[in-house]
Amino acid sequence: MTVLLPRREREALELLASHSGDAVPMAGGTDLLVQWPVRLEERGKTYLDLSALTALKPLRWSTDELILGGLTTYWDVIQEPRVREEFPLLVEAARQVGAIQIQARGTWAGNIVNASPAADGVPVLMAYDAIVVLESLGAREEVPLDRFYLGYKEMRRRSDQLVVAIRIPRRPYAYSLFEKVGSRRAQAIAKLGLAVTHCEAGWRVVAASMAPTIRRCPAIERLLEERAPVRGPDDLLPAIDRDVSPIDDIRSTAHYRRQVMARLLYHDLRERSGWPCDPNTQHPAPT
Ligand SMILES: Cc1cc2nc3c(=O)[nH]c(=O)nc-3n(C[C@H](O)[C@H](O)[C@H](O)COP(=O)(O)OP(=O)(O)OC[C@H]3O[C@@H](n4cnc5c(N)ncnc54)[C@H](O)[C@@H]3O)c2cc1C
Repeated sequence: MTVLLPRREREALELLASHSGDAVPMAGGTDLLVQWPVRLEERGKTYLDLSALTALKPLRWSTDELILGGLTTYWDVIQEPRVREEFPLLVEAARQVGAIQIQARGTWAGNIVNASPAADGVPVLMAYDAIVVLESLGAREEVPLDRFYLGYKEMRRRSDQLVVAIRIPRRPYAYSLFEKVGSRRAQAIAKLGLAVTHCEAGWRVVAASMAPTIRRCPAIERLLEERAPVRGPDDLLPAIDRDVSPIDDIRSTAHYRRQVMARLLYHDLRERSGWPCDPNTQHPAPT
């Protein structure tokens, strides 16, 4: 294993460019170093340790945006009271990532680039219309997170690019929801993740562990925009089937994932959003 330790962002970008895609950026290492002992092919790799790039660590506020740095951790977000006020889902998701040790090392940028379909940070960022800021030598590119993923572990990031920031527009939200369904509260990978927001820009419904990538659910968003009346969770299933394609795997079945997504959405929206659900129909609460 070769570890490069740049002191400045410019030096990091030069190293990435000069290694023609062979240097792997490492932030908290909480995804990369899990693979390292078990996958022999990881051992000969060159890693670009970003830990000395301290300018990328703090989160910042502008008039219009919250800007997470390329090295901002979950713990940085949990500790900032203004984030809880304006973007409560970021704190809720951060608190459900691993345990405190992982929250202290793991970064939002690492969660995005690791591209797990079951990630917890990505859905809430996507529900807040986050934009990924990528930098390479002499060029800067911004990609909305909901257009960042192209397929399973495929994304719009070249190997010479670093995620240097994540921009999140500041807006008043009328409704927000984050749900992670797992086998237990902590240290669990999501069987299903759901992040929903509503503001002047419209509804955002984002599903995790329901497709090869985390993704928005345009058919459900349309139902919400149109305030289409629904009589129960089953009325949501056709839209869910248009938006996502869950699989059976060791954590859950596709059937369970669809049913739970429909129930979570139906019950929370009925109770908290004023969605015109039929009040006479009783359904068991999701478990
Ligand atoms: C015990 C344990 C529990 C966990 N629990 C959860 C959980 O509950 N929910 C969850 O979502 N995740 C969980 N994870 C996964 C992991 O902690 C998160 O995905 C975390 O956000 C990864 O961030 P990192 O900084 O450690 O990334 P790293 O491991 O350093 O990197 C991950 C990927 O991102 C790339 N990368 C990192 N930073 C940059 C950058 N600035 N620019 C370009 N590429 C970059 C790396 O090259 C690599 O491909 C867990 C991991 C462990 C070990």
